[in-house]
Amino acid sequence: MHEMSLMGDIIQLVCDDAATRGIKRIEKIELTVGEISNAMPDALRMAFAIFHEQNPQIFTEKAELIIHLEAAKAKCVICDLEYRPDQKIALCPNCHVPAGRVLSGDTFQVLSYEGSKVDESNIKNRRTDE
Ligand SMILES: [Zn+2]
Repeated sequence: MHEMSLMGDIIQLVCDDAATRGIKRIEKIELTVGEISNAMPDALRMAFAIFHEQNPQIFTEKAELIIHLEAAKAKCVICDLEYRPDQKIALCPNCHVPAGRVLSGDTFQVLSYEGSKVDESNIKNRRTDE
């Protein structure tokens, strides 16, 4: 599942940026994921859940991942037909040649993230055995 490493990279990226802004906890990450970007939204959600579980020092308790799906669209360079490819190199349904230029759907990027500057774990999860 390469979504694990994709998600690891995203979280690293977000954490690096958050650190420069004094943000202590990540509350929300929003991604744009194209239908033909080779990343499966369900696998990304699963990977996020695992990172969230394993890294309580990075995330707020209710941290969430929001995925905006981008529809795939391609245009055949031979007949100009616009169609919806199911992978990056797809046959044009009209002339059956893999000559489609991808117009959208191959995006994979962090749209935004939100964080908290308060280290809430010290407030909510204060240990009682001190
Ligand atoms: Zn065509």
